[in-house]
Amino acid sequence: MPTPDITPWHSLDCPGALARCHSRDDGLSKEEASALLASIGLNALPQPPRKHLLQRFVLQFHNLLIYVLLAAAAITAALGDWVDCSVIVAVTVINALIGALQEGRAESALAAIRDMLAPHAIVVRAGERHELDASQLVPGDIVLLQSGDKVPADVRLLETRSLRVDEAALTGESVPADKQTAALPAATELAERSNMAYAGTLVSFGQARALVVATGSHTELGRINAMLGSVPAHVTPLTRELERFARQLTAVILAVAAVTIVLGVLWRGQDWQDMFMAGVGLAVAAIPEGLPAIVTITLAIGVERMARKRAIMRKLPAVETLGSVTVICSDKTGTLTRNEMTASHVLLRDALLQTNGSGYAPEGGLFHDGVPQHYGNHHALDALLQAAALCNDAQLQELASGWQLLGDPTEGALLTLALKAQLPLQELQLQLPRRDAIPFESEHRFMATLHHDHNGQRLILLKGAPEVVLARVSHEQTANGMQAADVTWWQQQAAQLAGNGCRVLALASLQQPHSSSELSFADVSGGLTLLGLVALIDPPRDEAQQAVAQCRAAGIRVKMITGDHAATAAAIGRQLGIGDGRALNGHEIDQLDDAALAATVAEVDVFARASPEHKLRLVAALKHGGEVVAMTGDGVNDAPALKQADVGVAMGGKGTEAAKEAAEMVISDDNFATLVAAVHEGRTVYDNLKKAILFILPTNVGQALIIIAAILFGVALPISPVQILWVNMVSAVTLALAFAFEPAEQGVMQRPPRPRAAQLIDRLFLWRLIFVGTLMVAIPFALYLQQLSAGSSHALASTLAVNSMVAIEIAYLFNSRQRHASAWQRGTLLGNPVAIGCVLLLIVLQLAFSYLPWLQQWFGTASPTASHWLQAIASGIAAFVLIELEKAMLRRR
Ligand code: ATP
Repeated sequence: MPTPDITPWHSLDCPGALARCHSRDDGLSKEEASALLASIGLNALPQPPRKHLLQRFVLQFHNLLIYVLLAAAAITAALGDWVDCSVIVAVTVINALIGALQEGRAESALAAIRDMLAPHAIVVRAGERHELDASQLVPGDIVLLQSGDKVPADVRLLETRSLRVDEAALTGESVPADKQTAALPAATELAERSNMAYAGTLVSFGQARALVVATGSHTELGRINAMLGSVPAHVTPLTRELERFARQLTAVILAVAAVTIVLGVLWRGQDWQDMFMAGVGLAVAAIPEGLPAIVTITLAIGVERMARKRAIMRKLPAVETLGSVTVICSDKTGTLTRNEMTASHVLLRDALLQTNGSGYAPEGGLFHDGVPQHYGNHHALDALLQAAALCNDAQLQELASGWQLLGDPTEGALLTLALKAQLPLQELQLQLPRRDAIPFESEHRFMATLHHDHNGQRLILLKGAPEVVLARVSHEQTANGMQAADVTWWQQQAAQLAGNGCRVLALASLQQPHSSSELSFADVSGGLTLLGLVALIDPPRDEAQQAVAQCRAAGIRVKMITGDHAATAAAIGRQLGIGDGRALNGHEIDQLDDAALAATVAEVDVFARASPEHKLRLVAALKHGGEVVAMTGDGVNDAPALKQADVGVAMGGKGTEAAKEAAEMVISDDNFATLVAAVHEGRTVYDNLKKAILFILPTNVGQALIIIAAILFGVALPISPVQILWVNMVSAVTLALAFAFEPAEQGVMQRPPRPRAAQLIDRLFLWRLIFVGTLMVAIPFALYLQQLSAGSSHALASTLAVNSMVAIEIAYLFNSRQRHASAWQRGTLLGNPVAIGCVLLLIVLQLAFSYLPWLQQWFGTASPTASHWLQAIASGIAAFVLIELEKAMLRRR
């Protein structure tokens, strides 16, 4: 912590700041950094304290359904019925315990996901660049920042290049602040400190080199302790719908219980105290106590399962939205293609050269008509290779595992190309040191660098999309010198190369007498000399084609939105099965008004030369047409489109922090197939939730109906309230939990997306609720009456009724594993090991319930005989068959 008598960082000049950190321009050494890390600690904010188990346990009672149960317990206590009271209390306690444990598990799953999203930083140590986990930074480190990065610590800027930082997270100011490096008066306010950048803010434009001055809780962010990290909440539209449902359910249950009590007393002339107990039993029976816990755990397990498949959910509601996605808008480069660029051809004015070799290994060569070509023999080729190598920020490293690229693949391919032709890179970098640069941005689609040679000449090198570069050239390089540029010819050549699916770059240069050592956009606005074109191949990912086909089967349309040339995009689209060969260009999009665009997006699937603004308009147009849109993105400017989409998907690898922050989901391997797998998983999670709920509720309906029937027919309750609680408890914690682990149904990706407006509680749902609920009353009730008339004791008859009800639940578990398809298949009966385990556990619990003396005493049960067990099993089988018949009939309709 700086003490007040020390000059603030922003009022020190750069050398002063470096000196105070005992750092240098080339950074700390690794040893210095690790010693500092050991003494200062990680660059991380203290995690908000996780809720203690006890705390979570107590919070479980804060639930409307549980309040009703506790009220029931109070009433039974007032009436002196201590057994019922203690069972009800025991059930609420067990339920809360299970809820607390499961919530703990869900929280750990989400915390692990948060770790997976931990930001990285590029740091210079002992003159070498490294990519590190941002938590490893220490004061004195030199970090490199570029647009899209999240500033990893508080830093004093040492060098800036058009740097603008979005400080809304810290200052609330929504307009990005311009940054510079000069020292400022000590009294400058935080928001005005233009030579500093603070942890947690986002670089929205430009680049910088900066000195870390404070880390972890010593940063401004740490000091105000505004924990930014969007921690996924447990609330989703579905859980909200369920909460509402639970409230309505409670009201209905209480009303029905009241009416039943009144009817029992006035109509059947029952004793009011008995009726009151029956009413309490009814309320207890009808309340699905296990429901909230089941929903939480099913969602958490789903999210965990997705994370294992490399799709990390940042916002929980997206799990459900994923299941109803109708359109996926995907980037091309890196998502549909491998983003492993290789230069395949070089076109000079007088020659077309080919390369061999693949990957970033500078092995293989350049050939003209089969003859190898080297740097140093051909003036035009040399000029092009120089531009390719020097107007370039990529680095190649030879590791034991092979050649590795640090930087952008497009630039890596160009560097490899130059090295294949044996260009002496280091020598050239010394001869033509770089003075300034305009970094590549997808808005302007070019990059330019400024070099000075030893005679003081200025050399500007430029590379970028052909149409952008061609608009700036006046001349072209030939084998013998220069001539006026034939732009039309070059355009045709570029289109031809792009038509094969290649990314095409044009390279140009401009020599000037020495003037300033700064490079502006005006310097590269015209008069350049075109050096040639380079075609890069970036093959589609193997799994992408299949994933696109999967989407088509699942009723999801795939659209490709790329910054690349229309011909390149259309060719790649053809290879992957996206679109019909048509591609719409960014400037064509500009010409359409919103209505026309909405009509066009319904037809065209490939969009080229599209900038982030186009993405935004496309999402809006698609949403306007009623589509549910998932959109991928990686750049800082993609953030608005990601936010606008129903499911924003950021790339974990090449994506910027800004994109990740805006997204609902992050895909850690940047792969389109992973996105499709996540949709598959999203549909499954929703299915499983629906199945679990559809499994739990009929049991409650059945139990409530039993009590109502007993009262209205004037017979003793076949199943006592405490027995009902037992059934609810054991079935909810065993059987219903199995649905959280349920594998996907076979046809999940063969049916159309779930309509967004589709309600969980639909007509089929209600019908099955009543159908199965009725089975659950009718069969146990019949067995109970038959036992009584055969002379069995009430205890024995109700033990049989309970066991029969549990057998029906077990059968119904297997019916419900497929909502529509027949359950009579090996996969359904044996496919979920958790379900089998739950059934076995439940059988053990039922044996204990029936035979253990102290449980017999508590629950009023009596030891059944073998024939009783056979009757229970038979009722399970009967229910299974009847429900399957019902499903078959529905299927036929
Ligand atoms: P997608 O949206 O499919 O991911 P992309 O984002 O890779 O595509 P951009 O990176 O915006 O597309 O590239 C657009 C065009 O800019 C390319 O077709 C290429 O001509 C040019 N380009 C790409 N990278 C560079 C670079 N590093 N330097 C100069 N020009 C580049």
